[in-house]
Amino acid sequence: MIQVAGYGAIDAQAPIAPISFERRDIGPKDILIDILYCGVCHSDIHMARSEWGPSVYPIVPGHEIVGKITQIGSAVSQFKVGEIAGVGVFVDSCRECPSCKKGQEQYCDEGFTPTYNGYYRDGKTPTFGGYSNQYVVDEDYALHIPFTSELERVAPLLCAGITTYSPLRYAGVGPGHKVAVLGLGGLGHMAVKFAASFGAEVTMLSTSPSKEADAKRLGAHHFALSTDKEQMKALRGQFDFILNTVAAKYDLNKFLDLLTVEGKMLLVGIPPEDNELGSAKLISRRRSIIGSNIGGIAETQEMLDYCAKHNILSDVEEIQMSEINGAYDRILKSDVKYRFVIKM
Ligand code: NAP
Ligand code: ZN
Ligand code: ZN
Repeated sequence: MIQVAGYGAIDAQAPIAPISFERRDIGPKDILIDILYCGVCHSDIHMARSEWGPSVYPIVPGHEIVGKITQIGSAVSQFKVGEIAGVGVFVDSCRECPSCKKGQEQYCDEGFTPTYNGYYRDGKTPTFGGYSNQYVVDEDYALHIPFTSELERVAPLLCAGITTYSPLRYAGVGPGHKVAVLGLGGLGHMAVKFAASFGAEVTMLSTSPSKEADAKRLGAHHFALSTDKEQMKALRGQFDFILNTVAAKYDLNKFLDLLTVEGKMLLVGIPPEDNELGSAKLISRRRSIIGSNIGGIAETQEMLDYCAKHNILSDVEEIQMSEINGAYDRILKSDVKYRFVIKM
C-alpha cells in the first residue's frame, strides 16, 4: 500500500484537518499522480458535511485534480511518466452497461466509483480524493491535460468545466440562443465562458450586485439581479435556456417564468433541500427541466481540448491546504472568485 498525506474530515461536524491514509499499490493499468493542484467544488462541502445523505468517513474531498505522473503500471499504454494528467469526479464504472458503452460513464447503471466518498468496485475499499499529495487511478479514467502552464487554472475544468460544458452541448446552445446562467460561482463562471464561446447571448442572473463587472469581464452580455422583482419581471419569457447552478435553498419556480415557450432549464446545482415544482409553469408553456451530471471521460477530454484551443481557463484564487476551512466559509457566503484551488 502507498502511504498518503492528506486533509479530510472525521465526521459531518468536523473541520477539514490533516489526515493520513493508504492507497492501493499501482496495478498493471494504474498511473500514480503527484498532485500539483486540486480545485474546491461546492460538492466537497455538501459531502464533507453529509448534506446529501450520510457520507463515508473519514472523508478526503477533492475531485478537480491535476498532477504529474511519477509511475505507471506494466500494461499502461495511454500515459507516460512525466506527463501531466487529470482526474475528475469518478475513477471507475461497470464498463458494460449501455451508458458505459456509450462513453457516458457518469450515468452508469451500477453507479460510477466516485473519486472520493464511496467505494471501489469491490464495494469495501473506500476512495479518497485530491486534498492529498498522490492519487492512484486506472488510466481509462484519467485525462490528458493539453496545457503546460497555468495548471492551477486547469484543475477546475475537471468538474466545474465539464459540468457546464456537457449540458450546453447536449442542448445544442449556439448562435441565436438567449441563455441565462443562474449563480456566479465555480460552475457559473465556466458556464458564462462556454455559453459565450458557443455564440449565445448570455445573461448572468445573480444575487450579488458586486459581481456585475466580473460577469461582463467573463463574457456575459447582460447582468440582472435575481433578487430584484422588477428586473425579474422584465425578463419573463426571454430565455431559450437557463443553466441553473444554485447550491443553496432558493425558489426554482420563479426562474421557470423566465423561459420562452419550449424553453429549457439545464439543472446542475444540487442544494441540500429540494424544491417543490410548480408543474403549471412547465405545462402552460411546454417548458422542460433537464438534469445533467458532470460528463463522460470522452466528453471531458473533448472539453479540455476545446479549452486549450479557445484559451478557456478558470478564474481562480490559489490557497494553501491549511486555508481550506476559511475557503469553505467564503464559498458559503457566495464570496468565491471564482474557484478556490489548493496548491499541494
Ligand atoms: P458555488 O461556487 O458556491 O456557486 C454557487 C452560486 O450560487 C453562488 O456563488 C451564488 O452566486 C449562487 N447562490 C448561492 N446561494 C444562492 C441562493 N440562496 N439563491 C440563489 N443563488 C444562490 O458552487 P459550485 O461549486 O459552482 O456548485 C454549484 C452547485 O452545483 C452545488 O450544489 C454543487 O454541488 C453542484 N454540482 C453539481 C454537479 C453536477 O454534475 N450536476 C457538478 C458539480 C457541482 P451569486 O452570488 O451570483 O448569486
Ligand atoms: Zn464538483
Ligand atoms: Zn456502467
